[in-house]
This record gives sequence, C-alpha cells and structure tokens, in this order.
Amino acid sequence: MRVFRMQDGADTAPYWLPRPCFHCDDPPCARVCPVGATFKRDDGIVLIDNERCIGCRFCMAACPYSVRTFNWSTPNDPAAATVRGYSPEWGYPRRVGTTEKCDFCPDMAREGKLPHCSSACPMGAIWFGDENEDAVTNSHGETLRLSKLLRDRAAYRQLEELGTKPRVYYLPPDNRHYPGPGEAATTPGNQTSAVVQR
Ligand code: SF4
Ligand code: SF4
Repeated sequence: MRVFRMQDGADTAPYWLPRPCFHCDDPPCARVCPVGATFKRDDGIVLIDNERCIGCRFCMAACPYSVRTFNWSTPNDPAAATVRGYSPEWGYPRRVGTTEKCDFCPDMAREGKLPHCSSACPMGAIWFGDENEDAVTNSHGETLRLSKLLRDRAAYRQLEELGTKPRVYYLPPDNRHYPGPGEAATTPGNQTSAVVQR
C-alpha cells in the first residue's frame, strides 16, 4: 500500500491518503489477464496467482488506480515469509517477472483477524469488515455499522464514474485536530479514514 502526503492548497494543512488495491467488484485487471492469473474470489477479494503469471503487465495498464507493481528483479523476501510455501492467499515467496499488489490479507481474514494495514494503524484510521455483515472494525477494537458510517461521513470512492465498483471507501475528515504525543486519542469521527470492505 502506498501512502501519499496530500495538500489541497498552499495554506491548508497536509494530510495522508493511503491507497490499497480497491478490490473492484468489476476489476479491469482480471478482465485483461490472458492466463487467468488475476482472479476475483467469491468473497470479492482480487488475487494474483504468481505461478500462472507470465509477466505481460496488461493488468498494470488496465488498473485505473495504479496500485500494481512489477518485480523487475528477484525480491528480497525475509526467510520467515517463505517457509510455508506459495499460495495466492499470502503471495510468498514472490517471483521475479510477476506483478503484485495489496491483497486484503485473506490469510488473516481466514483466522478472523484484521489485515496488517488495519491492525497496525495506531490511529485506528483503517476499518475493515464484511459488507454482508454490515460491520467494520479498526485497530482500537471499535466496531461500527458500515452503512451508517458511509452515510454519516459522506463516504466516497475513487473514480466511481469508471464503473469498476471499488470496495474501498474514503471518509472525508470532519476535523483535522489530531492528538499530540501523550494526548487522548480522538473519536473515529475526527480522523481521515479509509474503509475497506470485502
Ligand atoms: S484497484 Fe486495480 S488492481 Fe485492484 S482490483 Fe481494481 S483494477 Fe484490479
Ligand atoms: S502480468 Fe500476470 S497477472 Fe498481470 S495480466 Fe499479465 S499474466 Fe495476468
């Protein structure tokens, strides 16, 4: 996941914008893959099978959000990440000449845990959950109704007009007063947040 430093104007405060794969419901990356290496699972997660990938990079050209990267050289994987063998669910060991991207950590979801981006976020800014359960959770252990959160915070999606149906929503900030070191944490409503659902 890339995190961008954003600033709307010279006199406005900067803020951060995380950009994962949006796991589009109608993913153009999967449509153009000539060998079926990119595919959408029944639960909506879009994965890459690096054992099928031939490195044509059509998917990179097709993704309107530029979330994919290409392994031009042999990736330097930590030894601990390679011991359980390859699966598209965790993507290790990575391969030279293949693409990769954020995968929503489906191996963590299988264990009932949040993806690493969400569980590691100290601000609780990344919510994750199941759309069918209408619930999302963050790293502070807070759980909210997804539909209410999206409605109350005027959530939006990136380039919705393209019809890709991204499964990641952004919550516009309603207050950019962040707590300093040692101050009490803010409520969820005060944070620039991304909601991730599957
Ligand atoms: S964000 Fe890009 S890589 Fe991710 S599912 Fe959508 S089109 Fe595919
Ligand atoms: S680079 Fe790999 S995943 Fe992407 S379109 Fe080509 S074969 Fe499919």
